[in-house]
Amino acid sequence: MLILGSLVALILARVAAQLWLNALNVNEASRWASEAPSWLAGAIEEDRRRKSVDYTLARAKVSAFDIVYDAAILSVVVFSGLLPRLYSAITGTLGTSVWVSAAYVVVVGIVLSIPGLPLDAWVQFRLEERFGFNRTTVRLWIVDRIKGLVLGIVIGYPLLCVVLGLIQWTGRMWWLWGFVVMVAFQLVMLVLFPKVILPMFNKLEPLPDGSLKQRLIALAGRCGFQVSAIQVMDGSKRSTHSNAFFTGLGRFRRIVLFDTLIASMTEEQIEAVLAHEIGHSKKGHVIKGLILSILVTLVGFGVLGLLVERPWLYDAFGFAPGQVAPLLVLIGLTSGLATFWLTPLGNAISRKHEYEADAYARQAVGTPTPLVEALTRLAESNLSNLTPHPWYSGFYYSHPTWVERRAALLREGAVSRA
Ligand SMILES: [Zn+2]
Repeated sequence: MLILGSLVALILARVAAQLWLNALNVNEASRWASEAPSWLAGAIEEDRRRKSVDYTLARAKVSAFDIVYDAAILSVVVFSGLLPRLYSAITGTLGTSVWVSAAYVVVVGIVLSIPGLPLDAWVQFRLEERFGFNRTTVRLWIVDRIKGLVLGIVIGYPLLCVVLGLIQWTGRMWWLWGFVVMVAFQLVMLVLFPKVILPMFNKLEPLPDGSLKQRLIALAGRCGFQVSAIQVMDGSKRSTHSNAFFTGLGRFRRIVLFDTLIASMTEEQIEAVLAHEIGHSKKGHVIKGLILSILVTLVGFGVLGLLVERPWLYDAFGFAPGQVAPLLVLIGLTSGLATFWLTPLGNAISRKHEYEADAYARQAVGTPTPLVEALTRLAESNLSNLTPHPWYSGFYYSHPTWVERRAALLREGAVSRA
């Protein structure tokens, strides 16, 4: 009873925090609905700015609904006894081998992905459509979901078989083996993602020869940055949101530019965006990110190792002793209730890295101007919220706001020129 009570409290605490942050953000955006704050006046096109307020408010409504909807579904799944009942039904007919247990986890995963689909579709085809972002057709949207599902099964099922097998085969220290397997898996995915998975969803083509390519290669050379390829991705097939990123590691890494980015920016601006991406690598963010993710995986498996051995936990949720698979599903579903509170910590680290990459780009290009212009373009075209509530952005934002980044870029520019 105590455990179930604590779980209810954790669910309610998270919903309350999420709704409250959302409400703070709505108030802050509404304040500037009709008139730009003084620090924005003239810097952003006024009709884009107003539209960004509308977009922020429309998204906030969806998010409020989503928060409550998610919590409701989580509660139903956790408290209804659905998990142990489904487990008994499946193992009753197929037996209790590792293969069957892993299949059970996959089936639960598929079933639990269904309730979110209508909302996803509504966001894509109503909300994003209304603000002119959507380029996805219904057909493409469905094909994407099916591909994601097949990929999830093809990758997830064998991985689950291994982890569940380790629990049976390696005894009490299974979690350490599980950790090793998972880290190896992450490293393989780093290499496979850009080569195999990304091309399943998007067309990637080498950046054509020309002045832009020369400029970008010259920049990489100046920065002493080795890259195996600069590619253009057809992001425009789904959305007009634009972006740039790089994937892979070491000599496998490649820069990916959205076609929407290339279409909307000057060569100087794209160069500045790439310099920012190179900055992430040069400042060691990629390696730090990898180490952090390995540590998080270790802690995660350590906690799993402890929890799997607690008989009272099985009792509390109606699982028979030794029904590890449903317990793992339950822990997977509820772990977010604890890790949610660490969100601001992870984002604070990420924002620090963004400032460092911006500073690197400013130095590599020799002036802050093109990056400031590029960020302004991105903010305008993506209708970014320019005035988030500081608590909201402090909690959820992985990047500093446009105002913060511009201020830092211009400040550092002034310091180094002095
Ligand atoms: Zn960045």
